[in-house]
Amino acid sequence: MIVLNVLAAAAGLAGPWLLGRIIDEVSGGGGVQAVDQLALAILAFALVQLLLVRYARLVGHRFGERTSARLREQYVDRALTLRSSVVERAGPGDLATRGTTDVEQVAITLRDAGPDVLIAAIQAILITGVIFLLDPVLGVCGLAGMVGICIAARWYLRRAPAAYLDAGAANSELAEILASTASGARTVEAFGLQARRVAACQAAVERSRSTQLRTLSLRSVLFPVVDVSYVIPVVAVLLVGSVLHGNGALSLGTVVAAALYLRQLSQPLDTILVWMDQLQNSGASFARVEGLAQAMEPDQSSGQHSNPGPPSSSLVPADDQIAVRDVRYAYDAGPDVLHGVSLTVRPGERLAVVGPSGAGKSTLGRLLAGIERPRVGTVTVGGIPVADLDPELLRRHVVLVTQEQHAFRGTVRDNLAIAAPSATDAALGAALCAVGADWALELPGGLDAEVGGQAIRLDGAQAQQLALARVVLADPHTVVLDEATALLDPGTARHTERALAAVLRGRTVIAIAHRLHTAEDADRVAAMEGGRLIEVGTHDELLAADGTYASLWRSWHGRPGA
Ligand code: ADP
Repeated sequence: MIVLNVLAAAAGLAGPWLLGRIIDEVSGGGGVQAVDQLALAILAFALVQLLLVRYARLVGHRFGERTSARLREQYVDRALTLRSSVVERAGPGDLATRGTTDVEQVAITLRDAGPDVLIAAIQAILITGVIFLLDPVLGVCGLAGMVGICIAARWYLRRAPAAYLDAGAANSELAEILASTASGARTVEAFGLQARRVAACQAAVERSRSTQLRTLSLRSVLFPVVDVSYVIPVVAVLLVGSVLHGNGALSLGTVVAAALYLRQLSQPLDTILVWMDQLQNSGASFARVEGLAQAMEPDQSSGQHSNPGPPSSSLVPADDQIAVRDVRYAYDAGPDVLHGVSLTVRPGERLAVVGPSGAGKSTLGRLLAGIERPRVGTVTVGGIPVADLDPELLRRHVVLVTQEQHAFRGTVRDNLAIAAPSATDAALGAALCAVGADWALELPGGLDAEVGGQAIRLDGAQAQQLALARVVLADPHTVVLDEATALLDPGTARHTERALAAVLRGRTVIAIAHRLHTAEDADRVAAMEGGRLIEVGTHDELLAADGTYASLWRSWHGRPGA
């Protein structure tokens, strides 16, 4: 790419020099034939330059597209290896913006701005070099004239980013105020807030106007200064050149050629100026895209977790025993929401975790499923911290089932294969039947039927059945249930509960019980309150103990004092 661009720029240099030769030829009384030959040579070089530029651009764009494709792939790879807690904390919107807008910004730079700026820089360097070759004195005059452009560009770049950010923010604010006033028009009227809203809108318009004026004033300084700056070196070269020509030190053709080169220089410099903003923007975007690599560090948030170290495929749990030891956990930099929880889950038992809202039940569930890491203490399966397990292996031990279910866009097979890439069609079919999702096999195309998106739309219950079929295929010995059926309508919930019963058969179940009837059926009940495990025992034992669980149970049944 660089070689082609250098050649193209070099071919472009021939024109002014040949024109200078023509002038010298004519002023020296040369013949028409020589002039014709020189003119033909100009044409030939122009054609060669055209071809070279075309190939240089082709190569440049191919480079840009390939690099941005690699960037996108790397981004997707990185996004897919992020811990799910990191994804949840960042929010899918943020990841999507980085993956689309930011990657696109960088791609534009790689595809358009990068090659263009590179070409322009090569041209500018060559042109300047040629002027110096023609005559060093003229070269110094030309460069001295360019100083103005550098100063103006520096001045502009120092102020422009903040000014454009302000203008963008003021625009968003204006749009926000107008939209909220319009959509809340009835409320505004009802409370007689018209005057205030109008004043707020006017203030926003005024802010937007003043920020726009600010950017306009920056441009109105930069562009005239740059335009004038292009003329100054030409004038300087003509003035100094005419003196030197008068002294007989330089030919007229050389002076003209130098002046033409300086005019030519304005084109690459313009290109660089035009792309300057883009380069600045994409620098920020590139930082956001690359920032994902930092989020991949498993222990980036605080360094205070007790089990640092990346998920490793070398760790294999010794058995199916899940144990929680003195676990404390805090979301980000917040206060602890679990305060020293210890619990041993017996293989094959059905354990219900109960407690008032905010007690920390869901948080405990996420720790048990290896989504979060305890700040202090350990959550282990077969002696290995669950959060350290390789995701593939973790899935064979513990799976968290929540009410958030998702059918991925793709075939039914794709949707199931996530859990068991090597499962046979028979195994996939059996998993679907186990959760009552026989409908999936009856779709046109069967396992190859496209679902999600614009294809066959799935309702909540169907998506959940696919998700449960994935659990059957992953075949974990322990399932953590968190509100898996809480948000579904009663009819659907019954369906799903039946499917769930099939999924849970023969597994250890830790059910976060938001409805206490689940607890009654459990082998043991763990009652939590304020981030602490208060009581553990069977339903009957805890009722007899007359503690937290007993009072929860009584209020659930509406029998105070019973
Ligand atoms: P439960 O499931 O018993 O209702 P949770 O485990 O959801 O309780 O919440 C326990 C505590 O942790 C609550 O005080 C809650 O506000 C806090 N919490 C839950 N999720 C988050 C989160 N993503 N970020 C910060 N705090 C959270």
